[in-house]
Amino acid sequence: MLLPQIAVKKLYDDFGIVKPADLSLDTILACKNIFVREAEIDGAEARILMREDSAVITISNRIQNQQKRKFILSHELGHFVMHRFNQLMLTDTDETFDSWYKNNFVDQEVEANLFAAEYLMPSKLFEKVCKSVCKDHPEILRDGLDLPVLMDAIARYFDVSMTAAFLRFVDCGIHPVIAVGCKDGIVSWFKWSSDFPHYIHAFNRHLPPRPESVASEVFKNGISYSGLERKQWIPKSAWFSTGSRDRDSTFYEYCIYSERYGYSISLIWEP
Ligand SMILES: [Zn+2]
Repeated sequence: MLLPQIAVKKLYDDFGIVKPADLSLDTILACKNIFVREAEIDGAEARILMREDSAVITISNRIQNQQKRKFILSHELGHFVMHRFNQLMLTDTDETFDSWYKNNFVDQEVEANLFAAEYLMPSKLFEKVCKSVCKDHPEILRDGLDLPVLMDAIARYFDVSMTAAFLRFVDCGIHPVIAVGCKDGIVSWFKWSSDFPHYIHAFNRHLPPRPESVASEVFKNGISYSGLERKQWIPKSAWFSTGSRDRDSTFYEYCIYSERYGYSISLIWEP
């Protein structure tokens, strides 16, 4: 187990809880003598000032989204639990919260993000919830895995953003997937499940996604698919290199898009 997972397990054990809904984050922060204040902060989302037995988190008053607020506070709690003896003050910007898809687990920002993900969506529980949703809604598995419907249920259960749920699914979901993030029509990162079987030749960062991909279409039209159309059929070659003897088989892509931030995340999977 990685340090953030060990730290979350200890936190859950200390508080006698098994899932995040058992005890509010506010209560945990209060018990840890962590005081939260909102203020205007220039160029940062949050800041934590730590002592051995207490801390003050200052969170930007621009953050209105409750799920984002919860993720940021969980990230700061991670710093307190894991890093307070190394460094007394840490400042977090958009960039540090975006570093979750990097695989350098030595980095304390990556550690804090992994702590937040594990705290909000414990890996074992995540898998259990995925399986139980599929059991209650067999139609999800009927025709090539309906990930949009499954992701809706997961994000609702854990009360997290769709982005957080997507990324968690890559790490501990029940089907191999790859997630690709694009910014302003250019591929900026990708992350795949450890059991994803396809070699990803086609993934070049700093290039636009191929025209057959849903991400490309979404940037062109400025709108993503909704409702039943969210699961879109794509040819394998939209994202992957196919050898001369390879069949251009059917894959699926579910792309969420924020016009405001010029940002998209696609989940891509094989039925
Ligand atoms: Zn941080």
